[in-house]
Amino acid sequence: MSTSGTELRSGGCLCGKIKFTVVGEPDYPHTCSCPHCQKLSGGPMMSWVSFPLVGLVWTGASGTPSWYYTFEGETKRGFCPSCGSQLCALDDGGDTIAITLSALDEATDLIPVNQSFRGDAVTWLPQVSDTRHSVVG
Ligand SMILES: [Zn+2]
Ligand SMILES: [Zn+2]
Repeated sequence: MSTSGTELRSGGCLCGKIKFTVVGEPDYPHTCSCPHCQKLSGGPMMSWVSFPLVGLVWTGASGTPSWYYTFEGETKRGFCPSCGSQLCALDDGGDTIAITLSALDEATDLIPVNQSFRGDAVTWLPQVSDTRHSVVG
């Protein structure tokens, strides 16, 4: 079993005031074209990967991101209050943190294996194939 997938990864926002590190196995890289992701990102989709919440450390000068609840009392999005970068999503009581691929300093090895909310996707981009069944394990 390879250990390369569990090494420490770093990331942060565009202005650099919010930074973080995560450790642990990256879980389920995927894109999402839900209405929330489109509105928040200003683009046709966002891209996500999850890590164990226990391994997350905020390391930037501004500490933790600002939070906005997209589902009150259930799910919130973390973003930089200075530059607006979307960084993460967290379910209340959850034990994993979803990090945007765009927030990671290095994510070229994390290939999305599925696309959520296909029905809300724009028609002018190809969709991500569902390949998760071939990469389990
Ligand atoms: Zn920022
Ligand atoms: Zn979404």
